[in-house]
Amino acid sequence: MSPATPAADPNTGGGEFGLIRRHFQRPATTQPTAVALGIGDDCALLRPAPGYQLAVSSDMLVAGRHFFADVAPQTLGHKALAVNLSDLAAMGARPLGFTLALALPELDDPWLAAFAQGLFALADAHACPLVGGDTTRGPLNICITVLGEVLPGQALRRDAAQAGDDLYLSGQVGEARLALECLRGTPWATEHCGPEALARLRERLERPTPRLALGQALAGVARAAIDVSDGLASDLGHILQASRLGAELAPDEWALAPELRALPEPQRLECLLNGGDDYELLFTAPMAARSAVAGAAAASGTPVQRIGRLTPEPGLRLREPSGRLRPWTASGWDHFA
Ligand code: ADP
Ligand code: MG
Repeated sequence: MSPATPAADPNTGGGEFGLIRRHFQRPATTQPTAVALGIGDDCALLRPAPGYQLAVSSDMLVAGRHFFADVAPQTLGHKALAVNLSDLAAMGARPLGFTLALALPELDDPWLAAFAQGLFALADAHACPLVGGDTTRGPLNICITVLGEVLPGQALRRDAAQAGDDLYLSGQVGEARLALECLRGTPWATEHCGPEALARLRERLERPTPRLALGQALAGVARAAIDVSDGLASDLGHILQASRLGAELAPDEWALAPELRALPEPQRLECLLNGGDDYELLFTAPMAARSAVAGAAAASGTPVQRIGRLTPEPGLRLREPSGRLRPWTASGWDHFA
């Protein structure tokens, strides 16, 4: 779109076009990709493999809401793409490319260089090229759209779970939330985390790992999946609602970080069930698929734990060590709640 004020002269090396050229336009790679035409024209042209469906998802990160405005730009570049790739992973899709819409308060070359470094390190690790975008002046805001491909019938949809399915989780949850509480100075969190623990937990908050290899290995194996961005209980709630089911979880049996294990139960459950920003995959599969799930975990080098099962009765219940079932109401992130 044409700006309200004239753009700076692109030939000076400054301005919008110089910025794109310096930081986001890269030499064509020799690796085969799905990109027929990349940055520089009115549209990019992509070529999904014949017979595949296109998977598309956007995530916007707003300063002050999704991240601290003074966060290291390299970290922000990583996270902005990671949260989007996580959505492709949760669909079982393979990434083809992404676009980047950026609002920047000012042209800050060192900031942009570091942002681009974090962004491209992750993009290159997953062979997911930047194919276009938009750049404007405004309060810091980053919107990425990822494009991927998946075979028809193999996408891991939220409405595909069935009663009796096992419920699985990649990695562990709760660490990102504990890190956030430590950074906010919440006493129950800081009491349980020394500087070394915080450094490790903070990595989990700021540099999440999108579980792409696992997601693709689960396509055609698992039934339903979602990535844990807003909190396990509320994200699981989306599967339960779409599939019209309930679930039983036994959090006392889950693998979890020692700092979480040490918390009093209410805070531990708060981190495990309501904490967001984990970007782990939560998925269901029939009991008959247990060895296939283990195979997908091994093939993708991703730890996976079984954390519960789906029930025909609606609602979410926690199974206590005594066997007693306790109802649980989710209260994850909702920007308009
Ligand atoms: P248009 O006027 O057609 O919207 P622009 O002048 O905004 O095009 O952008 C020029 C080219 O640069 C386009 O190919 C666009 O996709 C690309 N582009 C703009 N901003 C970015 C960005 N932040 N990252 C990657 N590519 C970008
Ligand atoms: Mg534009």
